[in-house]
Amino acid sequence: MDYLTGLDTSGLEELTKEAALENFRQYEREGLCHTVWTFVTPFIGGICNCDRSDCGAMQSTITRGVPDMFRAEYVAEVNLELCNGCWQCMHVCQFGAIGYSAANKKIFIDPLRCYGCGICRASCTKDAIRLQDRASVPVAANLW
Ligand code: SF4
Ligand code: SF4
Repeated sequence: MDYLTGLDTSGLEELTKEAALENFRQYEREGLCHTVWTFVTPFIGGICNCDRSDCGAMQSTITRGVPDMFRAEYVAEVNLELCNGCWQCMHVCQFGAIGYSAANKKIFIDPLRCYGCGICRASCTKDAIRLQDRASVPVAANLW
């Protein structure tokens, strides 16, 4: 790579922005988490889509408490009026941030555990989950 001439993409497949976004949406539907990797910060070296069982960085960060990755600038929020307590979002959250309230028969999201990946949102057929700006959630605003 040259900073003046840009990337050398010869030999690589190129996608339109629309095709790339559709690929990412499909990965989300498959429960795969997007991660952005900066091999020489701040330049992006790659965007990965994987799950906890395959990703060494996610395992070391979440399972072993060794922070190899940062959280996203979002925190998930559930609309309890729309949630029917189906548990689908709980099954796909790789970070253990979603619990179930037997009393309410709804899920709840722990902002202290949420990495803002949005996989839960993609899985919800009731459109009950949205991502809010991390900065607007006081308890998680400075949690990276
Ligand atoms: S997937 Fe949607 S409807 Fe189902 S429990 Fe989660 S938030 Fe509620
Ligand atoms: S956005 Fe938060 S709650 Fe939803 S799947 Fe990702 S980490 Fe779990």
